Amino acid sequence: TESIIKVRDLKKHFPIHSAIPFVKSHQSVKAVDGVNFDVYKGETLGIVGESGCGKSTLARLINQLVHPSAGSVEFKGKDLATLSAKDVRAARKSIQMVFQNPDASLDPRKTIEFLIAEPLVIHNIGTKESRKQRVHELLETVGLSSYHARRYPHEFSGGQKQRINIARALALNPDVIICDEPVSALDVSVQAQVINLLKSLQKEFNLTYIFISHDLNVVRYMCDRIAVMYLGKVVETGTFQQLYEDPKHPYTKALLSAIPKENPFEQKERVILTGDVPSPVNPPSGCAFHERCQYVMDICKTDSPVLQTIEPENQVACHLY
Ligand code: SF4
Ligand code: MG
Repeated sequence: TESIIKVRDLKKHFPIHSAIPFVKSHQSVKAVDGVNFDVYKGETLGIVGESGCGKSTLARLINQLVHPSAGSVEFKGKDLATLSAKDVRAARKSIQMVFQNPDASLDPRKTIEFLIAEPLVIHNIGTKESRKQRVHELLETVGLSSYHARRYPHEFSGGQKQRINIARALALNPDVIICDEPVSALDVSVQAQVINLLKSLQKEFNLTYIFISHDLNVVRYMCDRIAVMYLGKVVETGTFQQLYEDPKHPYTKALLSAIPKENPFEQKERVILTGDVPSPVNPPSGCAFHERCQYVMDICKTDSPVLQTIEPENQVACHLY
């Protein structure tokens, strides 16, 4: 399996400004705190975890919307931080994003045609006429009609707007689309349609997806592999099957025990997480999960476990292994 993206020791710490004038705060929010994983070409890698675990910051780091405090993101073998201006532009084209809020990228004063053509204009691709042609083609691709091109965002439902955002993301023929909770803001009845669209587009255009979600039913349907995040760190990676059938990390166990099994007689007992997610400003020492873990040992309070491979494709950061 060929890796299209490699994330290595990636960190993003946001400094906190002190409330006292002229007193410098040495604290920071450790949104992403030493993350490692690969994304394979053509797969859907799910990134799951409770809200505030750093998933969205991670997405923005990969898409170069924010710059890392440390570590690197490699795209097709090249570190994004060291690319020439020309290569940065190429990478920007190749990695697109679809956000949770369908309105976020749709300026209400612009027509759908303008909005879908915008990435082509920005990258100086085609003529006015060829872009128009391309917009019509993209509208059909996402299940809308070219007849919608002259309309404005407010004339569309949430699901349709998300289709428009997907058309925009496809305009530049990307290799990778990062989907940050792409259906969480939609009605449940519409979610399946958008998910099915994403799946069929992946086949048609040989796309690689990074799929960020807290909804495990959506993840189950969509993802080949999963990286589980807790407080800015990846605590386990594996195929969906591995994590669903034999989760190793106590946090993964708790998270995935919430998904119903197809055979109800196999249903494992639901593990209920107690306590709140600790603050990413002062994460607990050692294993950041130790205050909520039912298997906690002395070493967990002092030593931070590193991610290690325990079987092919399955990596876990926990002192139990
Ligand atoms: Fe629990 Fe220790 Fe494993 Fe952390 S390292 S998940 S505290 S057993
Ligand atoms: Mg988020």
